[in-house]
Amino acid sequence: MNDTTEHIGRNRVLTGDTPTGRLHLGHWVGSIEQRVAMQDDYDCFFLLANMHAFTTRADKPDDIRRDTIEIVKDWLAAGIDPARSTIVLQTEVPAIAELSWYFSMLIPFNRVMRNPTLKTEIETKGLGDKYSFGFPMYAVGQCADILAFRPEYVPVGEDQVAHIEMCREVARRFDQIYCGVDPHAEDEQYESQGGTFPIPKALVGRVGRLLGTDGSNKMSKSLNNAIFLSDSPKQVKKKVNSMYPGQSREPDQPGDPEINPVFQYADVFIKDKEFVAELRERYRAGDNLGDGHVKAHVIEAINELLEPMRRRRAEFEGPSGDDAVIEIIRDGTARANETAERTLHDAKQAMRLDFGERTLRWK
Ligand code: ATP
Ligand code: MG
Repeated sequence: MNDTTEHIGRNRVLTGDTPTGRLHLGHWVGSIEQRVAMQDDYDCFFLLANMHAFTTRADKPDDIRRDTIEIVKDWLAAGIDPARSTIVLQTEVPAIAELSWYFSMLIPFNRVMRNPTLKTEIETKGLGDKYSFGFPMYAVGQCADILAFRPEYVPVGEDQVAHIEMCREVARRFDQIYCGVDPHAEDEQYESQGGTFPIPKALVGRVGRLLGTDGSNKMSKSLNNAIFLSDSPKQVKKKVNSMYPGQSREPDQPGDPEINPVFQYADVFIKDKEFVAELRERYRAGDNLGDGHVKAHVIEAINELLEPMRRRRAEFEGPSGDDAVIEIIRDGTARANETAERTLHDAKQAMRLDFGERTLRWK
């Protein structure tokens, strides 16, 4: 898609991940699977939110750098194709940081702090009252990550929907204040009424919230409950086998599949749905179906999904693999800056901040 002829990103997609660890099955079903599928029909931007990784791990720059590279390897392994999609490194897109400042003035402080996703994160990550000033700021920064690319869709997991809602509010507010869009306009009309930003829509994946192997929290890279896309068959087996089935029973005793988290995995990863329905029935009836048996089918299905990813990932092993990844990041980020700078230019013009032309050069 030619950016110079296009005003707002219709048919454009933006989403991303924070490099706080490797990608896991929750990312796959919540967002990545959709990203891979959308590459042909949409102009896709995939963002590495490395600045946001600093909001909780400012003392771990080496880890963040490593995770940034590993996440790109996960993306490539999962089927994201840098020839069709643009990989964007957040810290090298200054327009995002600038827009974050402007957007932070369009949203009340208390509105940010009431955001349920932030609250849950503070709780589950044990941040207490010691979190950095920058931590809640990431929610505003995320509005800029998205709007810098003016996408139509943002494919995300369920936990992100509250963030996308905030982003939509910011976009509306900007367009109303600086572009004269009628506050009663429908979301679809913002573009035709001269708004700088479209009102992007969240697109929740096949499974909005995949449980972790702890069986209670969402699978998360920071909660030590994840099956990673890069896990070996042995690791997958060990992790699934360690799961508590939610109840204690013998194979010939009736059980409740609904409280057994392994059944969520069975639903999600075993392709033969009739077979899963049968497993459920037998489990319910106590028809000689042990937990180990259900787990074995789940392990097989997960490994079947991960095997081609492991093969693609192997192509990027070692230092030469890292170099290839960094090249991909540079190439994508250079392209991304063209789009983001244009957005920033338009936004600043709307804000009467048009004092001159700035051309960013990034190598
Ligand atoms: P962190 O623990 O650092 O917050 P995370 O595992 O939540 O990491 P993010 O980088 O915050 O991962 O999320 C990236 C994308 O993956 C988001 O769209 C998020 O909604 C989605 N996602 C993350 N975990 C899950 C899950 N368990 N089920 C479905 N979607 C998920
Ligand atoms: Mg998260």
